[in-house]
Amino acid sequence: MSDAPQQEIPKTHVSPLQFVKGVGPKRAEALAQAGILTPRDLLMYIPRSYIDRSSIGNIRTLHRRMLNPDVFDKESRETIEALRSEITIVGAFTKIREHQFGKGRKMLIATFSDGSGADANVIFFNFIEYFRRVVKQEEVFAVSGKPDLDKFGKVTFTHPDIERIDPEDEELYKAGKIIPKYTLTQPMKNANIGMRGFRNLVELVIDQEKPNINEVLPASVLHEYNFPNRSEAIEALHFPESAEHLRSAKNRMKFEELFFFELLLALRQQGVKVRDKAPVIPPPSPTARKLLDALPFELTQAQKRVINEIVADMKTDKPMNRLLQGDVGSGKTIVALLTMLMSADNGFQSLLLAPTEILAEQHYQNIKKLLGDMDVNVVQVVGGQKKRARNAVLDEIGSGRAQIIIGTHALFGGSSKKDVENLWLQYNKVGLIVIDEQHRFGVMQRAKLRELGVRSHESQTPLAPHVLVMSATPIPRTLSMTLYGDLDVSVINELPKNRKPIITKVVFESGLQKQYDFIRSEIQKGRQAYIVYPLVEESEKLELKAATLALEELQHEVFPEFKLGLLHGQMLWYEKEDAMKAFLNKEYQILVATTVVEVGIDVPNASVMLIQNAERFGLAQLHQLRGRVGRGSEQSYCLLATKDHFAFHMKKKEAEQQEKLSAIIRLRTMEETTDGFKIAEVDLRLRGPGDVMGTRQSGVPDFTFADLVNDELAIEQAKKAAFGIVASDPHLRKPEHTATRTEFLRQYKSDQNFFDVA
Ligand code: ADP
Ligand code: MG
Repeated sequence: MSDAPQQEIPKTHVSPLQFVKGVGPKRAEALAQAGILTPRDLLMYIPRSYIDRSSIGNIRTLHRRMLNPDVFDKESRETIEALRSEITIVGAFTKIREHQFGKGRKMLIATFSDGSGADANVIFFNFIEYFRRVVKQEEVFAVSGKPDLDKFGKVTFTHPDIERIDPEDEELYKAGKIIPKYTLTQPMKNANIGMRGFRNLVELVIDQEKPNINEVLPASVLHEYNFPNRSEAIEALHFPESAEHLRSAKNRMKFEELFFFELLLALRQQGVKVRDKAPVIPPPSPTARKLLDALPFELTQAQKRVINEIVADMKTDKPMNRLLQGDVGSGKTIVALLTMLMSADNGFQSLLLAPTEILAEQHYQNIKKLLGDMDVNVVQVVGGQKKRARNAVLDEIGSGRAQIIIGTHALFGGSSKKDVENLWLQYNKVGLIVIDEQHRFGVMQRAKLRELGVRSHESQTPLAPHVLVMSATPIPRTLSMTLYGDLDVSVINELPKNRKPIITKVVFESGLQKQYDFIRSEIQKGRQAYIVYPLVEESEKLELKAATLALEELQHEVFPEFKLGLLHGQMLWYEKEDAMKAFLNKEYQILVATTVVEVGIDVPNASVMLIQNAERFGLAQLHQLRGRVGRGSEQSYCLLATKDHFAFHMKKKEAEQQEKLSAIIRLRTMEETTDGFKIAEVDLRLRGPGDVMGTRQSGVPDFTFADLVNDELAIEQAKKAAFGIVASDPHLRKPEHTATRTEFLRQYKSDQNFFDVA
C-alpha cells in the first residue's frame, strides 16, 4: 500500500480537505496523490496496522521461537502464517555502526533493545545516510517487520518500518491504548504529514463527518449479528477503545464487503432464474437406465448423490446452474453423460465443451465406447475439420438429429464477432450445456454459450439451457462460495473403489540413478512412465530446446534400451495428439513431457511419473500432473525430484527463504495427501485467492477487510443474508432496503440492469 497510485489531479480541482484546519493546499495535494480527495476518502483510509500490547513482540521470546524451527512437524498453516505476520518491537537503538562488505558496499547495523534481555539487529542496505540521521539513540522507536535470524543466531530485521514514538504516544501506549498506523506516502512525508499529524486530521474530520455516514446494511442484518452501525464502526477502526471494539468494527466492515459482493451474485443468479425458463427435463430416462445397466461397474455413492441433485434441478423449469467438483478420476464424465442422455430422451440437444482438442477427442471416444451400439447420435465439432466432414456435422446439428455435441471453442461458432453474427453453427433445441475443466473458461464464455443455447429454441419466451460446469481443480469452500456464489455446488468426494492410492515420494537429485532403476524395473514389468520437466524457459524456442535436450540425454545416457517419446507445448494439437496416442499404443515406454501433459489422455498402463525440479511447480499443477497416473489397476508412483540441499534453513533473503519454504510445504503436502480438497486448501494459504484462481478472470474484488482464506464463517453469513434478502425482495424495492440498493449501485454500477427500471 505504500506506493499508492500517483493519480493526476486536474489543476482546477480543489480538494475539500484543503479547508480542514491545518491542511492547506500543499498537504491537500499530497493527500490527493494518495487518492484522498474528500473527507469520506480520508475516513476510508484504514490504518495499515495498530500498535497495541498484543502485537508487540519481545525480542527474547521471539529469539527462542525462531531458534527452534522444527516448524514442519506442526501444521504447515501455522508456519505460513508465522512467516507472513509482521511483528512490532518497541524500544531504543543502543549502538549504531557501519559495516563494509563486498566491493565498497556499506550497510548500517543498529542494535535495538527492548529490555527483554535479548537484543536485535536492525539492518539497512539502502538510504544509509537517511537512516543514520533518523535512528537516534535517545528516542523510543517501534520497529515493525518480519524477523529473521542471522548466521550468528541473532534476531534481525532488514529494512523494517521504523517509527519514532513520540512521548505523548508513549503515554497512550503505556495506558494500554491501541494506536493506529497509517501508510504514509512519500509526498505526505514531504508535506510534513507524519503519523501523528495524520491521526489528528482523521480525528478532526471524523467528528465533522460522522453524522453523514449512512447505514448501508439492512437493520435486520445489524440486529441478527449484533454489528455496530457504520459510523461507529468506522470511528472504531481509527480510534478503537479496546481490542474487542476494534474486532467488532472489523467484523462489521468485513461482513459489509462480503455482503455486497454476495448481493451481486444473488442478483445475478436470480436474474437468470427469473428471466428465463428452462426446458423441463424429468426422469425417468430409458437410455440412461440402459447405460447404467450396461456399465461394468457400479456408481459410487457420491456419483449417485450428485446425479440426484442434478435430476432435481433439471425436472423444474428453472435453469440449472451447477458446479460439479470432483477430483481427477472421480468419474465426472459418466455423470455428465447420464445427464446428457436424460436431455436427449426429452428431445433436447446437449453441448459438451472441453478446453482442448485432445480432451474433446477423448470424451468423444469414451462416450462412443460407453454407449456401444445404443441409439444415440453423438457428434464432434473440432477446429480444422475438413469442409465436407464439417458440413455433415453441421447438418446433423442444425436438423436436430445430433443429440450430444462435443467440441472445444469451436462450439462458440467462431472466434470473431462477424463469425458469431453469421453464425454457421445453428443448434437445435439445446437443453443442457456441460463445461468440462471449467476453470479454463471465463464467466463470459459460460454466458455466451448459454446465449447460443437460448437462441436455439423457437419458442416465444426464451428457453435457457441447464448448465453443468465440471472442475477437477477442487476449490476450497471459501472460494467456491464467493467465486461461484451464483452456482449451486455438487461434490464427488469419493473415488471408485478399485483405485489404489498413488504412492508419492520426494526424491533428491543425487539419488536419481536409483529412481531411474526403479522406473526401469516398472517398465520391465510391462508398465510405462512419464518424465516431466518444468517450463524453465521463457521463450518458446528455448523450451523446445530444453525438452529436446532432456529427451536426448535420457535416451542416450539413461534408457538406451527403451523407446522415448516427446510431448511439449510447441507442438501443434494434432502432433500432441499423435504423441499421446503413440504412447497409449505402447510405441514408447517413456513419455518425456512438459506440463502440457496435465490435460493429456488417459493411459491406464502408465504407472510411474517422475517430475523433475518439482520445487518449481505449483501445488495445483503437481496434483493435476499426478492425476495422469493411477488410472489403471496397478499400484502407481509419483516421484518428485528436487535439489539435494533443499532443506529448511534460514537464509539471508526473505523472499528466497519464503519461496524455499513454500516449495517444501508443497512437496510435503503432495507426499502426505492425495485429497484434492486438502491440497487446494494448502495452495490457497500459500498463494492467496487471486493467484489460485487467476485474479483477472475470477471477478472477485480485492477486499480490504475480508480474507478469503480464513473468513469462511463470515462468507457464509454474508451469503445467507444477501441471498435471503434477494429472495424476499428481488429488486430491493422495499423501503428498508433503499440504502442497501443505493450502496449496491454505487459499488457495482455496471450491474444496474439487474433491477427493473421501475
Ligand atoms: P474425471 O472425474 O477425472 O473426469 P473420469 O470420468 O474420466 O474421471 O473417470 C475416470 C475413469 O474411472 C474412467 O475410466 C471411468 O470409466 C471410470 N469410472 C467412473 N466411475 C466409476 C465407478 N463408479 N467405478 C469404477 N470406475 C469408474
Ligand atoms: Mg474428466
